[in-house]
Amino acid sequence: MKLLNEVAVITGAGSGMGRAMARLFVSEGAKVVAADIVPKGVEELISECGDLPGEIVYCKADVSKRAEVEAMLDFAVEKFGNLDILVNNAGIMDNMMPVGEVSDELWDRVMNINLKGVMFACRRAVDIMLGQSAGGRIINIASLGGLQGCRAGAAYTASKFAVVGLTRNIGYMYAAKGIRCNAICPGAVETNIGTGMREPSELGMERALGGINLNPRIGASGEIANVALFLASNDSSIINGAVITADSGWSAY
Ligand code: NAD
Repeated sequence: MKLLNEVAVITGAGSGMGRAMARLFVSEGAKVVAADIVPKGVEELISECGDLPGEIVYCKADVSKRAEVEAMLDFAVEKFGNLDILVNNAGIMDNMMPVGEVSDELWDRVMNINLKGVMFACRRAVDIMLGQSAGGRIINIASLGGLQGCRAGAAYTASKFAVVGLTRNIGYMYAAKGIRCNAICPGAVETNIGTGMREPSELGMERALGGINLNPRIGASGEIANVALFLASNDSSIINGAVITADSGWSAY
């Protein structure tokens, strides 16, 4: 088992990639705090994990709220004694709004969840990990939209570019302190993220979907979970501050 007795916090663990990661980490022996703003998905997941070797507990946390994010990480330490792995996975889409159609409210909502929440969690996790001899590993789920200009709307794209920058900054800043921080940039993955899209921008859809035929295929959540497991385990001990695309080659064209 690659994560035996390792303590991991995963945000957005009730659906899609977060759920696949939580399950895989538990099957690899980890003690997982599965955080989500919605309890249902994690409750189902917990019942599925009964025979797996690790442990899993739910923690209700809205990543856009600093106090809830800090309480989530402190809960992991109280419950399991330390914090080895943080996966900042929770995120939302932005209705593909080009900048001319972005409301202040949409911008703030996307930034607060996709970026500020990641910063809140990294800040508290680094504080905890610096106090541990074993350090720790942080994995941020960015997006191909954090590397290329038109995979989503303006707010989502800006938020994910910022997550990439934050990841690389943390990776280097704490490289000598035993903390590794890497990002995964998935392309298109089959999850529930699209269900949050209501009244998407016509222009945004037309422009952002223009290159969809170049995508070799849609990925599965489990494939992203495999990449996260690699980054969470010592198999990736030399990898730090890296941004790994997981997109079937879509961005290689
Ligand atoms: P999903 O909608 O299936 O799952 C996201 C989970 O995050 C849900 O369980 C949701 O309840 C939770 N969540 C939403 N807002 C939250 C908040 N404020 N606090 C806590 N939890 C919250 O989506 P997914 O596709 O699995 O997305 C996971 C990550 O992957 C996101 O960061 C997303 O931007 C990124 N991503 C997705 C794709 C894709 O094609 N699906 C591609 C690239 C990147």
